[in-house]
Amino acid sequence: MQSIGHLFAASLQNGGPGPGFLAPWVYRYLFGGMEKVLKLLPEKLESSLQFSDLYTKLKKADNCGTVIEILTSDMGYDVLESIGYRGIPSKANLKNRTEVLQSIYIKSIVEPLLPPLDSIANGLKCYGISKVVMRYIEDFYTVFCPSPLFKWDFEKFFGILSPVFSENGSTNHALEITVYKHFVDFAELCYFDDAFPVTLGQLMKFVTGSPSLPPLGLPKGITVEFVHGCQDLKNGMKCKCLPSASTCAIALKIPVHIADIDSMKESFILAVNCEPGFGCV
Ligand SMILES: [Zn+2]
Repeated sequence: MQSIGHLFAASLQNGGPGPGFLAPWVYRYLFGGMEKVLKLLPEKLESSLQFSDLYTKLKKADNCGTVIEILTSDMGYDVLESIGYRGIPSKANLKNRTEVLQSIYIKSIVEPLLPPLDSIANGLKCYGISKVVMRYIEDFYTVFCPSPLFKWDFEKFFGILSPVFSENGSTNHALEITVYKHFVDFAELCYFDDAFPVTLGQLMKFVTGSPSLPPLGLPKGITVEFVHGCQDLKNGMKCKCLPSASTCAIALKIPVHIADIDSMKESFILAVNCEPGFGCV
């Protein structure tokens, strides 16, 4: 588990993306401990969890009478026994309500995950990442938890494309312009058509290795190169080779026989789905 923390830290240290998938309470625990987690209790717990009904009722209770009524019910006694509460339920006040809520939350959500989270927190000390995140805890939220901030959009993507065309006026140049136009149309579909089988994030993962925009941006734009000279196959069929990408050089190579929108879609859908990526570590 500590290695997971190392991986997060190493990615950030090198200007790469953060995990972007942590639950907010996990983020607060990793960089602030239990105290930070208990400061922001959720309004309700997942309905599948034990005591979620009582938790929700208790969270809504705003006077001592309601708190006592809830805690002295059958389920109230079950909960208090389960969390080892030592107070007297019939004399409970709003402060006790918060203590009970915190105990239920710890027992149901936090406690089962503490050992792996502590290991991840240790790994995050690598390169001094923990200290920096603690100092700028609000700013780093979007790096660790889901956020639309680092999602690619079409404008950002189009703005960093850098096609390498042959000499102006040549036959190759004219062909490359056509291929490039269809590639841009394909990328537009990825972004704007929700039903399209490839998203812009998947296309960017194919090209750069990361489905989201790295927090420090890409070191340079995306070079789009055009591959000429494919030979027809022995059986007389046209070459069907696929586009390829170099994630280190951030370069995309598109064979010029992919010269209409249908073959562009077919080739990229195949290429994007076939590439192994860096997802399985
Ligand atoms: Zn080819």
